[in-house]
Amino acid sequence: MHELSLCRSIAQIADRARQGRPVAAVHLRVGQLRQVVPETLVYCWGLVTDDGPLAGSRLEVESVPVVLDCRACGETTRVAHVLVLTCAACGSGDIELRTGEEFLVTSLDLGPPADEPAPTPTPTLREQEA
Ligand SMILES: [Zn+2]
Repeated sequence: MHELSLCRSIAQIADRARQGRPVAAVHLRVGQLRQVVPETLVYCWGLVTDDGPLAGSRLEVESVPVVLDCRACGETTRVAHVLVLTCAACGSGDIELRTGEEFLVTSLDLGPPADEPAPTPTPTLREQEA
């Protein structure tokens, strides 16, 4: 399953970034062109992380709409139907994708270190291609 292998790669990124600390949530940004169903992704996340160090963590999926720029007339179109990638203003197919292809782990919500009771600021993971 597509989503299963995606979750494995997300889990690897999160596991490398968590520096031994427990992870409460992983934030993911997915462009609509990726043809990923967020609910399926969340379900697979549970399967993939079930018996590992990320068990119990949530996967928070942010869906990014497809936005394109028209090379013919310069208009920007937010695409409603991702199978029709044309400019809404002039109908041209000579377009440049602005958003919609993202697949990024944007941040992790980390718990406190096990051996350090004082709360510390939550480090933010730099955006990283999954
Ligand atoms: Zn146009």
